[in-house]
Amino acid sequence: MFENLSERLGGVFDRLTKQGALSDEDVKTALREVRVALLEADVSLPVARDFVKKVQDQATGQSVTKSVTPGQQVVKIVHDALVDVLAGEGDPGALKIDNPPTPILMVGLQGSGKTTTTGKLAKRLTEREGKRVLMASLDVYRPAAMEQLAVLGTQIGVDTLPIVPGQKPVDIAKRAKQQATMGGYDVYMLDTAGRLHIDEVLMDEVEQVRNVVNPRETLLVVDGLTGQVAVEVAEEFDAKVGISGVVLTRMDGDGRGGAALSMRAVTGKPIKFVGLGEKMDALETFEPDRIAGRILGMGDIVALVEKAQETIEAEQAERMMRRFQKGQFNMNDLKMQLEQMMKMGGMEGIMGMMPGMGKMAKQVQEAGFDDKIITRQIALIQSMTKKERANPKLLQASRKKRIAKGAGQDVSELNKLLKMHRQMADMMKKMGKMGKGGMLKQAMK
Ligand code: GDP
Repeated sequence: MFENLSERLGGVFDRLTKQGALSDEDVKTALREVRVALLEADVSLPVARDFVKKVQDQATGQSVTKSVTPGQQVVKIVHDALVDVLAGEGDPGALKIDNPPTPILMVGLQGSGKTTTTGKLAKRLTEREGKRVLMASLDVYRPAAMEQLAVLGTQIGVDTLPIVPGQKPVDIAKRAKQQATMGGYDVYMLDTAGRLHIDEVLMDEVEQVRNVVNPRETLLVVDGLTGQVAVEVAEEFDAKVGISGVVLTRMDGDGRGGAALSMRAVTGKPIKFVGLGEKMDALETFEPDRIAGRILGMGDIVALVEKAQETIEAEQAERMMRRFQKGQFNMNDLKMQLEQMMKMGGMEGIMGMMPGMGKMAKQVQEAGFDDKIITRQIALIQSMTKKERANPKLLQASRKKRIAKGAGQDVSELNKLLKMHRQMADMMKKMGKMGKGGMLKQAMK
């Protein structure tokens, strides 16, 4: 099996000690491994090359977050960049369904999972969006395929167009449109014929059908296990008939999902859904995060990213604490504290977390100190100038009036805030003197 990327990078970075920033050399070494991992995951060479270059530019010089290794940091950067390429714009699972009956054209090679996906999608539209759907098979070369769709329809409770032997695909499409209109359907889905390989006859046929129904969505169904081939198929279909999105099937298999990245990078078309099995509900909205994790071969990537983020916050807190120890606590610090409070679930949340603060929390509540006050206090600080925030002692009566007015509040509110700041600054100083392992550090955990 493949060695996963985090293991690879781990090996590379074992020799490196933690430094302040990622050096050129670190990044280059790491990205060589990333490139190999991408190729193993079936990403095409030019796409892998382009991608690595992009990440290299982003990563060089970035400061290394404490408590993650440089290798992990690179993985995080790579992960975010992967999500970026995979995501594109818009909501992947959303289909353009407006004027009923809306035509949806399903195209792709034989065996890609087109008929199965047509059924899955019809079921989804019916059950989740309450649409009335009509399905029609245009595969006149394989009567078995037409039967297959009819059987699926019965299984999932979705109507199919009655089969009329000997009719041409274009005529079936016209009939489907007519029946969908008369029958009051919201959507009609056309399951076109597939071939083993792309050929002119197939393309011409799809083109004719397209011209007749003018589909709102033309979804290409491709086998996600076929990697590079899937991308070539997408390019050809797009050039000839124009596709609006892609469904990658067999993503439940062993494949590493590299096709998804090449697909996005090369065709620029959104991947809307992924097929995750043979059952009729094994269809999911495409999630860039998940596929990125899979390409990297590390399931815990999301946890890692979150951990790194927490670490950044912890570092900020530590920096602040060093300032407090020196007796520095200005309005900017107070503002940061207030904002942190809001983020941590407001006054009540924080007091609840601090040992011995339960009683005080009650008092605070009784005094009418709620989260709205915090917001108002932040507004007051925001109307101060930079200099005033750094040194609130500068504030004269006239400025106080202006600041209170600017924040739409009374001067008495500002005075309360200033008093609170003085008290907190005093307290911080005392706590700071108690040393690094002191109460403040405990309280900030
Ligand atoms: P078509 O020729 O493109 O219409 O392909 P079919 O819909 O008949 O599918 C071919 C085979 O692939 C069938 O056995 C399906 O059950 C299977 N299949 C389709 N989608 C998926 C998928 O997402 N995962 C798995 N494991 N099998 C799938």
